Amino acid sequence: MIHEILPVGPLQCNCSVIGDDTTREAMVIDPGDEIEDILAVVAKHNLKVKQIVITHAHIDHVGGAMKLRAATGAPILLNQNDYGLLKMLDMQAMWCGMTSPGKVEIDQSVTQADTVKAGTLTASVIHTPGHTEGSVCLYFPAEQKLIAGDTLFAGSIGRTDLPGGSFDKIMNSLHEKVLALPDETIVVPGHGPLTTIGEEREGNPFLK
Ligand SMILES: [Zn+2]
Repeated sequence: MIHEILPVGPLQCNCSVIGDDTTREAMVIDPGDEIEDILAVVAKHNLKVKQIVITHAHIDHVGGAMKLRAATGAPILLNQNDYGLLKMLDMQAMWCGMTSPGKVEIDQSVTQADTVKAGTLTASVIHTPGHTEGSVCLYFPAEQKLIAGDTLFAGSIGRTDLPGGSFDKIMNSLHEKVLALPDETIVVPGHGPLTTIGEEREGNPFLK
């Protein structure tokens, strides 16, 4: 598996470029910004982007999706419970002091137990409401890797004080779904350093 993580935009959202070494098919997760840099990584590995997956509809995660779709022709996937937040991108831009990316169109909703494929790579969608209603994580069982969006961070969890956020829901998502994964699972959070499920189970003060 080819996996490059690029922190993009002013909020340094971790964008993942994940490719199949054999077929060169790839998925890009959370292309928030700096699409030229993402495309450079795609080109460096000679990849063909087949899926654009958005973990949730905050501007720092979805801001560059339309640019990437225009460049690659790949569909944009997002859980439908976040479609409402997409209509608030102008307001989100104002809150963060960013420029609005304009209208973002979703090609397909993804939800619990759906699979997203690129070549021989398969990710299961885990619906993890709490940070937003439509937050999802992507789990690659063969590689024991979780792309967690803003649901789980190293030593912290996603904030729940923004529209659509719920502390009860994020706690439920974390305990029922995320912590159900094996300890060895590598976690790629939406921001900041990588961690593992085992480390967070042991040391994350929000999960005690
Ligand atoms: Zn977020």
